[in-house]
Amino acid sequence: MKDFAEPLTRLIHELGRLPGVGQRTAERLAYHLLNADTEDVLALAGAIRDIKTKLKPCRVCFNVTDGETCSICASPTRDQGRIAVVESVRDLVAIERSGAWNGVYHVLGGRVAPLEGRSLETSTFSKLLKRLEEDTEGRIREIVIATNPDAEGDTTALVLKEHLEGMGRKVTRLARGIPTGGSIEFANVDILKDAFEGRDPV
Ligand SMILES: [Zn+2]
Repeated sequence: MKDFAEPLTRLIHELGRLPGVGQRTAERLAYHLLNADTEDVLALAGAIRDIKTKLKPCRVCFNVTDGETCSICASPTRDQGRIAVVESVRDLVAIERSGAWNGVYHVLGGRVAPLEGRSLETSTFSKLLKRLEEDTEGRIREIVIATNPDAEGDTTALVLKEHLEGMGRKVTRLARGIPTGGSIEFANVDILKDAFEGRDPV
C-alpha cells in the first residue's frame, strides 16, 4: 500500500530536495500546505513559479531583475563609476541590506576553485571585461573586489587582480574585518561598512 496519494508523495519528494529539509520536515510542510487555505497555497506556488519565469539576470551586472536592467544599474543616485565585484546575488543582497555601498555591482555567479575545475571562465567575468572595454569615456573609476574571505574567495580575488591590472582603473579589495573563513552573507552591518570604508588598493 502506498503511504501517500501521488501528488502528496511528489510534493514531499520535491520539498525534501530543498537545502536543510529532511524527510520529516518535508512531510510536515506538505501536510501544512494540504490543510492551508487554497488561496495561500496558490500564492506560494505562484511566487515560486514567478522567480523562474519572470526574473532574469540584469544585462549589465547579472543581479536578478524583472526588467532588462536591475534597479541598481538604473539608479541615478548610485555611483555608476564604482563597481563592487561579488560572487553571488546573495552577497549583493547582504551588502545592500547593510547600506555600506553606494556604487554598483558585478555578480560573477561563480568563483575560482581549481580542484573543482572552476575558473573565471565559468563566471560572468568576461562580461565585466566587456563592460570596462565599452566604457571608452572612463566613467568607471574603481573596481572593488568583494569576494568572500575564504580560500576560494582569496584565489578568485588574486585571479581577478591579475586580469584587472593594466585596465587603467583603480582596483581595491575589501578590508579584512570579516573573519577568515566567514562570509559576506552573514557579516554584520558594521563589519561590512568597515570593510568597504577601509578598502585597500591591491
Ligand atoms: Zn544591474
